[in-house]
Amino acid sequence: MKAVMDVDPHPAKVLRLVLGDQLDAHHSWFQQVDPGIVYVMAELAQEQRYVRHHIQKTMAFFLAMERFAERVRGMGHSIRHFDLDQAAPFESLTALLAHCAAAHQATRVEYQLPDEYRLRRQLADWQPDGVEVVAVESEHFYMTEHDLKRQFKAGSAHRLEPFYRKMRTSFDVLMKDGAPVGGQWNFDKHNQKALPKTVTVPAPFLFQNPTGLIQDRLDRHGVETLGQVGSDLIWPVDEAQAEALLVDFCQRLLPNFGRYQDAMTHRGWSLFHSRLSFALNTKLLSPKRVVDAAVAAFEQPGSEVGCAEVEGFVRQILGWREFIRGLYWANMPDYAARNVLEAKMDLPSFYWTGDTRMACLKQAIDQSLEFGYAHHIQRLMVTGNFALMLGVDPDQVDAWYLGIYVDAIEWVEMPNTRGMSQFADGGLVASKPYISSGKYIQRMSDHCGDCAYDVTARTGAMACPYNVLYWDFLGRHSDRFGRNPRMRLMMNHYEKIPMIERDEIHSAAQALRESLA
Ligand code: FAD
Ligand code: SF4
Repeated sequence: MKAVMDVDPHPAKVLRLVLGDQLDAHHSWFQQVDPGIVYVMAELAQEQRYVRHHIQKTMAFFLAMERFAERVRGMGHSIRHFDLDQAAPFESLTALLAHCAAAHQATRVEYQLPDEYRLRRQLADWQPDGVEVVAVESEHFYMTEHDLKRQFKAGSAHRLEPFYRKMRTSFDVLMKDGAPVGGQWNFDKHNQKALPKTVTVPAPFLFQNPTGLIQDRLDRHGVETLGQVGSDLIWPVDEAQAEALLVDFCQRLLPNFGRYQDAMTHRGWSLFHSRLSFALNTKLLSPKRVVDAAVAAFEQPGSEVGCAEVEGFVRQILGWREFIRGLYWANMPDYAARNVLEAKMDLPSFYWTGDTRMACLKQAIDQSLEFGYAHHIQRLMVTGNFALMLGVDPDQVDAWYLGIYVDAIEWVEMPNTRGMSQFADGGLVASKPYISSGKYIQRMSDHCGDCAYDVTARTGAMACPYNVLYWDFLGRHSDRFGRNPRMRLMMNHYEKIPMIERDEIHSAAQALRESLA
């Protein structure tokens, strides 16, 4: 440990911590070079331990941190980047910070407010003797910390649509003379198309970032990961790569983004999605930069980007992403323990292997293991829907989503998983559970034709498990959802099923649970 710090005992008045998801070289911190400031970054063992991460996620973070340190150094700043070897002696982030503060004789440590509760708590609780600790905003989101507190209340249900309209108006995005461009706030109804066979799925734009040195480091320290990686990492790991991905998205994919946003196919793994979530969540790109680029592509003379397409995309970032963050901060830490449906089952083991005969689940899980990525509808209506209807413990569902996706950071993963997808928060994020039978998956995908199960059957040995679990869920939770007006139609259908068939469905669902336990 001593050797690490003796290399460059740069006396500095101020230490500034940069976390792995705070890679924003445009932050006001970096606008002036000050020899009295040393920046600190570290590949910490504590961040590898709190959940088992996909190998591509760990590598993407480590590579992006390395590139960021090089860039900041190139801008003239002084920065100490501890790799896993150098950070190994420190049991925690604060132990490393305390050591750096002493080695650099710092009287002040500054940090950008972490987006994750766990880290924010850890830093807020740290009170070193003789060192002032100061937190500043990350300057990344549209909404400031103050805005968040004003708009989101703990324990209250919030809805996206009014929030989104307010955001469009406040930030003047896709607005003309005080009204939404195109005459509508939301083009969701235009945006729910399956992918026709005649439409070619575009090849995703991939990077070739070498992984060898990081793999060696992970092996040396016995870091346990999941999923696969090749010799190259396909994800963007610096701002230039993130920017190239954004440009490619606006040119090639945005013209079809909204239309096929909910479509699923075995012909490709990311369709017309941007795959910008890692770059956004690590702050290589700001949400404003991404939204402005999409709007500029739409406004270009002769643009192929339609209003429904750009609106659909803007809604995800200006709407959903900021909305989810608001709910997270209003409700943490209690949110992490919510389980209103009292779901207790273990996550089926095939979530970790893809070893299932259900074609839709196999596609979603296989590609998650191969690339650390599935698009929103796969996460919500395939893996999430199945776990919800089966009755899986939301802690286990959270751990799976938090580990497996390259973009998974708790503030955005948890309200999407525990809230939107598992309804474990009792409706703070969504007004009803996102459940569906196989019919929805059949309509939106080409999976059912290749499946071992029969999507048209709800009873019998080959009945699609989504059908069995869907009707079983409605029966099991009829007390809770019977009076929800948004569930009335579904409940009416359930009540029309003859009693003898309902019993058969519930027995089949129970047998399925036992077979997966
Ligand atoms: P695109 O479809 O191209 O969308 C553009 C951008 O919009 C995304 O990059 C993302 O930043 C934002 N966005 C879209 N939907 C959401 C949403 N519901 N919440 C917040 N931002 C959104 N997103 C994460 O970034 N990290 C997660 O850990 C995560 N976990 C999820 C878990 C579940 C169960 C579900 C249902 C969704 C989750 N999402 C998460 C939201 C969404 O699925 C991903 O942001 C998206 O699939 C990322 O792929 P993309 O960049 O190609 O997105
Ligand atoms: Fe999925 Fe059911 Fe279709 Fe099979 S039949 S792909 S399990 S929805």
